[in-house]
Amino acid sequence: MSSLLLQMALRTESDIFVLRQRGREVATAVGLEYQDQIRIATALSEVARDLVGAVGGADVTFHIAGVEEGRPALRVDLAPLRPLDESRCEPQSGAVARLVDSLELTEDEGVTVIRMSRRVPANAETLTPQRLAELRAQLALSAPASALDELTVQNEQLIAALDEVRSHRDELAVLNEELQETNRGVLALYNQLSEELEETNRGVVALYAELDEKSVQLRAASESKSRFLANVSHELRAPVTAVIGLARLLADSASDPLTDEQARQVGLIRSSATDLLALVNDLLDLAKAESGRIEPDWATVDLRVVFGQLRGTLRALATRPEVELVVEEPPAPATVRSDEALLSRVLRNLLHNGLKFTEQGEVRLHADLVDGRWRIVVSDTGVGIPPELHERIFEEFYQVPGSASGAGTGLGLPYARRLAMLLGGALRVASEPGRGTVFTLDLPVDGA
Ligand code: ADP
Repeated sequence: MSSLLLQMALRTESDIFVLRQRGREVATAVGLEYQDQIRIATALSEVARDLVGAVGGADVTFHIAGVEEGRPALRVDLAPLRPLDESRCEPQSGAVARLVDSLELTEDEGVTVIRMSRRVPANAETLTPQRLAELRAQLALSAPASALDELTVQNEQLIAALDEVRSHRDELAVLNEELQETNRGVLALYNQLSEELEETNRGVVALYAELDEKSVQLRAASESKSRFLANVSHELRAPVTAVIGLARLLADSASDPLTDEQARQVGLIRSSATDLLALVNDLLDLAKAESGRIEPDWATVDLRVVFGQLRGTLRALATRPEVELVVEEPPAPATVRSDEALLSRVLRNLLHNGLKFTEQGEVRLHADLVDGRWRIVVSDTGVGIPPELHERIFEEFYQVPGSASGAGTGLGLPYARRLAMLLGGALRVASEPGRGTVFTLDLPVDGA
């Protein structure tokens, strides 16, 4: 849908001026800005000149189109008086076309027309049918001025356009100057930044060298600690074993009889020495594991066998009638590539702890295959461990304060975690005080 604003005939040279002037008037009336008014007027006069020369003129109509879609445009149709030789008249190509949004040859009710259009900034609300009727009336009233008048106007416009071009050129020169200035600034900044970067890089490199050196020292320190522990505990083992033997001898019925007090004191010596031996053995194990001196003896291990043995050996420890030891049957195929002795050590340690720290309920061993890995879980319904201590219990000698443990060295869990790592797996804990503890040993089915 479009609504007609104005129509006029283009026949002679002087009509070209009139068309130009009327084009400008219509453009002004529909709200196009000054530059656009000149553009459309110029495009019209260029096309009009061609038409007068080639086919003796045209009938020209001005419309407002596209109001319904909310993108109104001023549309001008020039219907040539005689059929156009399209090969000679191509208004849509060239500089004129650039002055408007579209310029095309089109078919309108069987007649070929040249159609140009330019979007207007007004919207559908301002271009109401009533407003368009007013514009139509206004344009019909205004009489076209003479060709000379239009020429004067055109000259003025030309001068203004020239002025504008000149001022644009001056602006361009200023901009160019500024750009060069900015470029110099950027270059200087870039150089400065590169220097700073280089400086920082040197610092980082030095820092890394220092870090490397420190970690070498650290490794050396840790190795000598392990070596010291291994040596000391090894050296202590023989005398402590001797003390235990001697105490047993003293208390033996074949020896001279002891007074009750003496027998009590010898008993104390013996139990202390036994504790000491346990500590020394644990220390030796841990030191060996830390120094990397334990080489797992890889083989295909049947978990059913391991679990069976644990069930047997730990039953003796599960002396409280309120606590049940449940060793579940692992699902088939219950095999894993591992070191049977080391794996048993880890599980025995965890089960032993479970029995130690559970007053009531159960201690359970359970295995599952999840995503191609064994998840072996030791859970209990015991005292539990506060969340903030979940990592600390894996530190050497750490024991949760107030946990009614009795005997213990605080070395079991660090050792168990070491072994788990040696076996290619990991040992994690989840626990809540008062609700029990869950240790999970995660092992790859095919070993490390
Ligand atoms: P130990 O048992 O010889 O004291 P561990 O390294 O095996 O040493 O354990 C460290 C500490 O972690 C224990 O003293 C105890 O406080 C806590 N702990 C370990 N296992 C459990 C468990 N199943 N329930 C509650 N606390 C536990």
